Amino acid sequence: MRTQIVAGNWKMNCSLDESLHLLNELKLKDFSKSNAEVIIAPPYTNLYPIHQNLKNSSIKISSQNINENESGAFTGEISPKMLKSVGVEYVIIGHSERRAIYNESDALLAKKVTAALKHDLKIMFCVGEVLEQRKAEKHFDVVKEQLEKGLFHISASEMKNVVIAYEPVWAIGTGETASPEQAQEIHEHIRKVLAEKYNQDMANQTSILYGGSVKPNNAKEIFAKKDVDGGLIGGASLDADSFAEIVMSF
Ligand code: PEP
Repeated sequence: MRTQIVAGNWKMNCSLDESLHLLNELKLKDFSKSNAEVIIAPPYTNLYPIHQNLKNSSIKISSQNINENESGAFTGEISPKMLKSVGVEYVIIGHSERRAIYNESDALLAKKVTAALKHDLKIMFCVGEVLEQRKAEKHFDVVKEQLEKGLFHISASEMKNVVIAYEPVWAIGTGETASPEQAQEIHEHIRKVLAEKYNQDMANQTSILYGGSVKPNNAKEIFAKKDVDGGLIGGASLDADSFAEIVMSF
């Protein structure tokens, strides 16, 4: 049985006070009623205080990014070791906003994957096509290539520490959601690609999350699909009630 996960990507939102307020609201929710593992990805500045406030909670912490180097003259960057030292368990790698706005290439993402694993950080690796690629029916190939170039240099045993997030770029922050059927067909494709590269067992064990305008009113239907193992939630994760409702969809 695969781990079901609901992860909240807070992006560049929330001052420290706002983060702690949101966290306190989340801590009041009874996530034990859900089968899903709950992860939150606050901005860098709030990781440590949130970690300190999460003692005795089942909520796990992710960063939204990572630098691929160990240390040194990389002004403004945060290393894997630093993340580990403040209680981070997961890192998001390859979010479409990092790929598009910060020109993060597949080759760079591959280095980030290696760096995260070296420091025992688990990875949520994001893939997904833009609208033109979807319209040209290239989405299956695009996602396969992103996996091959950014992730498939790691071994099958390392894959145990990786969760994949399929996030169609046209559905992120747009209010537009892939239909449950669209999500299912591409998640099934991703699992097939994993089985071809590694093996069927590994593919069956890998959690594949859907991301793109997931809200309380559509989560259940999407999560009910056979190959959808949870969600990576942006906008709706900033509201404790909405996020909790999405978590309870499992
Ligand atoms: C995201 O940024 O990963 C995301 C899925 O955002 P939203 O839920 O707002 O579409």
